[in-house]
Amino acid sequence: MNSKYVFVVGGVMSSVGKGIVTASVGKIIQARGYKITAMKIDPYINVDAGTMNPTEHGEVFVTDDKDETDQDLGNYERFLNIDINSINYMTTGRVYQSVINRERNLGYKGKCVQVVPHIPYEIINRIENAAKKNKADLTVIEIGGTVGEYENILFLEAARMMKLKNPDDVTFVLVSYLPIPKMVGEMKTKPTQHAARSLNSVGIQADFIVARSEKPLDKPRRERLATFCNIPAEAAISAPDLKSIYEVPLALEKQNLTEMILGKLKMPSQSADLKSWRQLVARIKSKKTPIKIAVVGKYFGTGDFTLADSYISVIEAVKHAAWAHNLEPELSWLDSENYERNPSQVTELADYNGLIVPGGFGTRGIEGIINAIEFARVNKLPYLGLCYGMQLACIEFARNVAGIKQATTTEINEQADEPIIHVMPEQEKKLLKNDYGGTMRLGSQPCQLTRETIVHRAYGVESITERHRHRYEFNNVYRPKLGERGLIFSGLSPDQKLVEIIELKKEVHPFFVATQFHPEFKSRPLSPHPLFFKFIEATKSTNTTVKLPQVLKSTA
Ligand code: GLN
Repeated sequence: MNSKYVFVVGGVMSSVGKGIVTASVGKIIQARGYKITAMKIDPYINVDAGTMNPTEHGEVFVTDDKDETDQDLGNYERFLNIDINSINYMTTGRVYQSVINRERNLGYKGKCVQVVPHIPYEIINRIENAAKKNKADLTVIEIGGTVGEYENILFLEAARMMKLKNPDDVTFVLVSYLPIPKMVGEMKTKPTQHAARSLNSVGIQADFIVARSEKPLDKPRRERLATFCNIPAEAAISAPDLKSIYEVPLALEKQNLTEMILGKLKMPSQSADLKSWRQLVARIKSKKTPIKIAVVGKYFGTGDFTLADSYISVIEAVKHAAWAHNLEPELSWLDSENYERNPSQVTELADYNGLIVPGGFGTRGIEGIINAIEFARVNKLPYLGLCYGMQLACIEFARNVAGIKQATTTEINEQADEPIIHVMPEQEKKLLKNDYGGTMRLGSQPCQLTRETIVHRAYGVESITERHRHRYEFNNVYRPKLGERGLIFSGLSPDQKLVEIIELKKEVHPFFVATQFHPEFKSRPLSPHPLFFKFIEATKSTNTTVKLPQVLKSTA
C-alpha cells in the first residue's frame, strides 16, 4: 500500500479545535490497526516555537529529540500514544531555511530557485520523509491558520500537488466554524461555504467538513453544506462542543468518518478497537469527587484563555492522574504577583489540596512564587514543582531552612552573592552571543534516581529519561549545605553533575517533589505520569492547618 495522507485545514477562524480533530482522525484510523503519525505545519517565519512568548502562541511542546514545537504535537502524542519527533514539525522559517541552504550548496545545480515550485517541493519532501521515517501507513497533516490566508498558501499548494499526483492517497478535511449569532438564534453555514470556496480557489476540494459549533448540525444545515460545499451530506460531520476533548474520536467514529476516510483512500476496512478509549471517556464523564489544585505562577494576568493554552500539558497531566484516581480536578490559576504585593494572601492556599508551580522564565512575580512554596512546605501542602518550580523551591529552602538569606538565581540577579541556581557554563556563552534559538538544554535526558526516595518508588525504576527545557541549574557548591538541612537530591544526571530532582523526606512532608525537567510532556490519558499520579494521590489526604510561614511571621 502507498503512504496515505489526510490534510486537515481550517476555515472561518482559528482556535476551534483543528489540532484535536487532527489527533482524533489519527486516533480512529489507528484504532483500525493502522500505523499512524501526525504532523503540524505552522505558517510563521519563526524556525521553532521556542523563541515565542507562550502568551503569544501557547505552550512550547518539547519533543524527545530536542525540538521546541507547537502545542498540537502534545495533543497528537496524547491521543495517539506515540512519541512525535522533530521531523513531524515544520514552519515557513524551516522550509525557507533549508531551501536557501541547499541553494548556497549548489544543491539546485545552477537552476533559478523560485518560490513556486521549489518551496512546495521542499514541503512535499518533508511530508513524505516524515511518513517514511515513521513507517506510517497514514499521516495526518494539520496546516495551521485558516484557508484564504496568504501565509499558508504554499502549504496548500504542496497538498494540491500531492493530491494531483496520487488522487487515491490524499484526502482533505476542512474544520470550519458555524456561528450561532445571538440575534438570529440559528446556526449559519455561509462562512463555511465561503471557506470551502476559498479552498476550491486554490484547487482543493474538501472531502469532509467537520462542522464545529456550540450545537450539533441539524438536517437542513447538513444539506446546505452538502449542496454548497460540494460534498455528500454524510461527509458533513457534526462536531458540537463536548465535555472533554477525549470524546471527539468517538463522536467522529459514530458518524462513520473512519469508514468514509478508509474508503476514499482505498484502505481495507478493519474492525475497530476503541475499548480502552471508551472506558476512559466513560470515566471522564462520570461523577467524581472534586480535588482542588492551585497553580501559582506569572503570565496569569492575561486572561483564562491564553493561560490554559500556555500550560496545556500541565493541565492534561493533572487530569490524567486525577481521573486515574477517580477524582475531578479543579485547577485554579493564582497570580504570584498578588503574593508579592500582599504576602498574607498566600494563606488562601490552605483551601487547596495541592500546589503546582510550573515552568517559567524571568523575574516577574518570582518572590510571590517563593512565598507560595514556603507556605506549601511549612503547611505540608502537597507540592509539585516543574523546572522553575524546582529552582525556586531550592531557593526557598536555602533562604528559610538553611538560613542563606540572599539565596537567589542568576536569572534574576547576575551578580548574586548566593547563586543557589546559576546559568550552565555552556549556556552563558550562548547568552553572550544572543544565540537564543533552540539553544537551551533541551529534550530527553537521562536521570538516575536515588533508592528509597519518593520518586524512586513512584517510577519503580532507577534510570529514567525526561524532557528538559532550561538554561539554569542547581549550583553544586550548595549541595552539601542544603543536603545537611534535609533537602534530598533524589535525581541526578548519570555523571552526578546536574541536580534533576529534589524532594523532602516523607516524615517531614507528605509530598514535596520538584523536577528540573518537565514530566508533563510525557503524561498520556491512559498512562498518567508517575509523579503526577503520586502527587494527586497525596492530595487526597491533605490536611492543612495554617502555620504562618517566615514571610508572614515577620509581619504578624
Ligand atoms: N527559567 C529557568 C531556566 O531557564 C526555568 C525554565 C523552565 O521553567 N522551563 O532554567
